[in-house]
Amino acid sequence: SSRPAVRRAGTMAAACEPPPDVDTDDCLRDYRHLFSPDILAGQVAFITGGGSGIGFRIAEIFMRHGCRAVIASRNLQRLSEAARKLVAATGQQCLALCVDVRQPQTLAAAVEEALKHFQRIDILVNNAAGNFLCPASALSFNAFKTVLEIDTLGTFNTSKVLFEKYFRDHGGVIINITATLSYRGQALQVHAGAAKAAIDAMTRHLAVEWGPNKIRVNSLAPGPIVGTEGYRRLGGQSAEQASMWDTIPLQRAGTKTEIAHSVLYLASPLSSYVTGTTLVVDGGSWLTSANSFPALLGIASSSAK
Ligand code: NAP
Repeated sequence: SSRPAVRRAGTMAAACEPPPDVDTDDCLRDYRHLFSPDILAGQVAFITGGGSGIGFRIAEIFMRHGCRAVIASRNLQRLSEAARKLVAATGQQCLALCVDVRQPQTLAAAVEEALKHFQRIDILVNNAAGNFLCPASALSFNAFKTVLEIDTLGTFNTSKVLFEKYFRDHGGVIINITATLSYRGQALQVHAGAAKAAIDAMTRHLAVEWGPNKIRVNSLAPGPIVGTEGYRRLGGQSAEQASMWDTIPLQRAGTKTEIAHSVLYLASPLSSYVTGTTLVVDGGSWLTSANSFPALLGIASSSAK
C-alpha cells in the first residue's frame, strides 16, 4: 500500500506515559533507568523537605543515579526513617539533618555537618514549602507571612548559606521547586502564588549574579502531583472525582517520579547551558485548568472533611 510504515506499537504514547510510582513515602518497587545510571556518580545533593512527597522521590532518583544525599527538614524522626528506606533501596549514603529553613543558623550547622561528612555538596534542591487552600479574606496576616517565610525566605536562606560555605568556590547547581499558581492568579492561593513567584524572580537574580561562579540556578514548577501532601491538602481526590483532570491537556495528574526525572535533568550535565529559567512540568495544566472560585471552594471544603 502507499500508506507510510505502521508505527511500532507503543512508541507514540511512550513519550507521554508516566513511569511506575507508589503513592506513599516509600521507594519505587521497580526502577528502569532512562538516563545513564552513573550520571550523578560521586556527587552530593542537599535536599530540603527530602523526607516526604516530591522531595523524597527526588532523593531516591538522585541516589539511583550514583548521588549521595542529605535530606533536611524539621521532623528528624520522619527524616531518619526516610533515610533508612532510601539507603536500603539504592545502596547509596543518605544523611538526615534537622533544619528549619526559616532559621539560618540551623542551615549553617546542617551544611557544616554535611560537608564534614561528605567533603562536598554539588546540588541544592530547595523543595521545602507549606501550603493550603484559603480565600484571601479568610487568610490571617500571620498565615500569609508564614508561607512567605518558609517558601521564599527559606529558599534564599538555604541558597545563601550553601553559596557562602561551598558553592562560591566550587560551583554548583540550585533547583528551586516553585509552582504555576501565579501565572493565572489561581483562586485561594494568593499566599503560595506570591511566595513562589518571588522564588522564580530569585532564580533569575541569582542565576545572573552567580553564573560567573559556575553556579546554575533554575526553577521547576510542578502541576498537580499524586501521592503528595500537596495533592491531599489541595483537594486532588475531589478534583479527580469531579473529572477536573479532563481539562488538563495530558488528561491526568503527574507523578513524583516524573518531577524527580525533570529535576535530575536540571541537576545533571545534560542541562549544562541552562540557567535562570523555569521548567514547567504540569502536562500543560496551567494553560487550561479551572480557576473558578466556587468550584475551588467546594473542593477545599470537601477535602477538609
Ligand atoms: P510535602 O510532602 O508537604 O513536602 C514539604 C516538605 O517541606 C516536608 O518534607 C516538610 O518536612 C518540609 N518543610 C516544611 N516546612 C519546613 C521548614 N520550616 N523547614 C524545613 N523544612 C520544612 O509536600 P509536596 O507536595 O511533596 O511538595 C514539595 C514541593 O513541591 C513544595 O515546594 C511544593 O510547593 C511543590 N509543589 C507541589 C505540588 C503538588 O501537587 N504536590 C504542586 C506544585 C508545587 P518537615 O515537616 O519535616 O519540616
